[in-house]
Amino acid sequence: MNAEVITVGTEILMGQILNTNSQYIANKLAELGISHYYDTTVGDNWDRLCSAIENALSRSDIVILTGGLGPTSDDITKEAAAHVMKRDLVLDGPSLEKIKAHFSDRGTVMPENNIKQAMLPDGCIILKNEVGTAPGCIIESNNGTTAILLPGPPREMNPMFELGVLPYLERLSDSILYTRVIRIFGMGESAVASMIKEVIDKQTNPTIAPYVKPGEVTLRVTAKCSEIDEGKALAEPVIEEICSIIGEAVYSTDDEGLNEVCARMLIEKRLKLAVAESCTGGMLSSSLISVPGSSRWFIEGAVTYSNDSKLRRLGVKPESVAQFGAVSRVVAAQMAEGARLSSGADIGISTTGIAGPSGGSDNKPVGLAYVAIADIDGTYVRELRLNGSREHIRNVATLNALDLLRRRLSDSQV
Ligand code: ATP
Ligand code: MG
Repeated sequence: MNAEVITVGTEILMGQILNTNSQYIANKLAELGISHYYDTTVGDNWDRLCSAIENALSRSDIVILTGGLGPTSDDITKEAAAHVMKRDLVLDGPSLEKIKAHFSDRGTVMPENNIKQAMLPDGCIILKNEVGTAPGCIIESNNGTTAILLPGPPREMNPMFELGVLPYLERLSDSILYTRVIRIFGMGESAVASMIKEVIDKQTNPTIAPYVKPGEVTLRVTAKCSEIDEGKALAEPVIEEICSIIGEAVYSTDDEGLNEVCARMLIEKRLKLAVAESCTGGMLSSSLISVPGSSRWFIEGAVTYSNDSKLRRLGVKPESVAQFGAVSRVVAAQMAEGARLSSGADIGISTTGIAGPSGGSDNKPVGLAYVAIADIDGTYVRELRLNGSREHIRNVATLNALDLLRRRLSDSQV
């Protein structure tokens, strides 16, 4: 089974909006294991839209369209699809009632032109719109091809896809997919790919797809199966093999973030944490606190940005700052120790660095950063040499501090 996507809208062609629907649907098709060969964008133009739909239906089993389901005269997707697939548009009573209710719930009366949204191709499957007024629809032709029409606004399209389209596509394909995501920190994509090349080369089911995020690599392991247990049985030996090759750089095989892994281990070990941040300016605390239940283990986080604050709040020694500078191994260590001692936490972690774009020098370039961890066994500092934008440097420094914490908590090498 294969599918293709048509996004409709002159705004997309003009570069006024980013085509996130296309990316969203492409991701979903990949997760479903449905082949996806074409992705077209076409403006709100009758002839070109009809020919795009005709073309797509001639070469793909499923054509998914987004946009142009609204009430105005430039919204023509449904009319064009019905024309190409030789269906009449008929008024659907329940859809009209829903649209009317949508307006009356907001204390207004439905404008006349919204009736258009309740006109649907004869014999189609109607997809409910939980958020807006335009229903979507699935039109199945006699020769086995299918067009799926979805609204343009992502906040309407995404829930309609999840609730209506996903179950439909899953039913069409005779198998289900069992997916696990392995997350790896501290190695580049090419290093990961070359280490597991043999595993990737010999695999057909499950498939292994690498994906890069800032500072980390993920591997999506997807098994086609008829039930979940079968999928697990297919995926697990492959996941184990990958973990044994990559080693401690793997921090999750269940698509957890570093912050979630740290949170889980802090709870298991009943340990409490305090944070002192300079260059990350609250990102590290924010990432940790975004995990639900963090009040059980997060004591406090301080953004000690100035030298004075590092001395006053954390007890960093003035002579250390004078001798080594605020961005140094020694100061990072004293910050982590200060956070721990001043709060009564079991563990203190810290960040200090030069996020740029200015402020670098020959021996301390932009991107030099230190993250440190202090606990009852002592203090450990990791030096980082990062590059990229200010945001990127701060983000990757945050991830490194989390990685240091999860390694310490799992008794791995820090
Ligand atoms: P409406 O009822 O709002 O008119 P519609 O189904 O007719 O919805 P469009 O008129 O094509 O959809 O687009 C409406 C808005 O939805 C756009 O202004 C844009 O903000 C968003 N949108 C449309 N298509 C896309 C897309 N491919 N990716 C991201 N956003 C989109
Ligand atoms: Mg519209």
